[in-house]
Amino acid sequence: MQELSPRQKYDLRRKLEELKACKGKHTELISLYVPPNKQISDVMAYLRNEYSESQNIKSKTTRKNVLSAIESIMSRLKAFKRPPENGVVFFVGHKSIGSDQTEMVAYVIEPPLPFKTFIYRCDSEFYLQPLEEMLVERDVYGLLLIDRRECTIGMLRGDQIELLKYMTSQVPGKHGRGGQSQRRFERLTEIAAHEWFEKCGEKASEIFLAEKGLKGILVGGPGPTKKYFVEEKYLHHEIQNKIIELFDTGYTDEYGLRELVASAADTMADLRISQEKKMMKRFLKEITKGKDSLALYGEEEVRRALEMGAVDILLLSEDLRKYRITLTCPACNYSESKTVDEKDLDKTYTCPKCGVPMEVKEKIDLIDELSELAEKTKCKVELISKNSPEGDSLYSAFTGIAGIARYPLEKKL
Ligand code: ZN
Repeated sequence: MQELSPRQKYDLRRKLEELKACKGKHTELISLYVPPNKQISDVMAYLRNEYSESQNIKSKTTRKNVLSAIESIMSRLKAFKRPPENGVVFFVGHKSIGSDQTEMVAYVIEPPLPFKTFIYRCDSEFYLQPLEEMLVERDVYGLLLIDRRECTIGMLRGDQIELLKYMTSQVPGKHGRGGQSQRRFERLTEIAAHEWFEKCGEKASEIFLAEKGLKGILVGGPGPTKKYFVEEKYLHHEIQNKIIELFDTGYTDEYGLRELVASAADTMADLRISQEKKMMKRFLKEITKGKDSLALYGEEEVRRALEMGAVDILLLSEDLRKYRITLTCPACNYSESKTVDEKDLDKTYTCPKCGVPMEVKEKIDLIDELSELAEKTKCKVELISKNSPEGDSLYSAFTGIAGIARYPLEKKL
């Protein structure tokens, strides 16, 4: 299971908000989940059957609405030879828009993660659970257990423990065999141990480096060997930097992986909350620095710094509900971009030159627009929720848009 990027999470969350807001007057909103391995022809057959069953719906309006929703899905489904890589989900139906009015809506969503189950639902709201589950945090941690006899490498994904490699060593025990001098025996043992640690270090580094988005690494084992292994830097330096903590475990095999995860539970819970907090604390500390402050905030200042490639970390509140629109005047070709609140999207903007109403040429979610700008200069984007006091202050005190600069910038007064 891959990890979603902050952007993918944000996009999905917004989509779910929109879908959740759709309410049917009756059971007439259809949700259809077509998993990647499902034959389109089977889905068609299923829908044809639903169509004929739905002829029996008593209420005339509901029947009409359900039938037209199924027809709409069938015609959209025809565009697919086979389901896309992660499957495809259709949400179609008549949503209520006040008084006795309804409006037909149709969403076709290719989710960022695959799902397994075929689902057809007709209800007064859309069935969103499988998509909501994709938003559950699934942090990935590397697990490494080592002593002089065994080495086990695994991965923790969400709450799933995965065993990836189990190795045993040829390092002789502490006691020499007859006929060898004790010193010679000890020297050979140390050489064997060194080779064993090298082999484990290489294998673990290879596995952990291949895992993108690894949050950190937990190292365990009985006795002092793990500490020696870490201190002597048998791991690749990038992996070495990701070590969170060393834990004592009684075992170094698959069972030890469970021991390791259990002893690290508190540490990991702290890590999860603190990522956002840590970023915001850094920003708030910069704010107090005065002249050499690296803190940036407000759209104008942050945008200017982004365009200069001077932003190291961009902090955006997940609750920003703004759009960047490009307007063009049909009469004189005057064009401008501006940021507007979601609620002002339908407003008319007139040309400052000739007073003619301008046309919206482009509309993009402000978070997406700023993130794209950031990615061009390798600036890291952090989406911050309002779940912590620090996150809340980003939204309420700093307009939801802030950043930490790479170097102090001259501020406009
Ligand atoms: Zn004009």
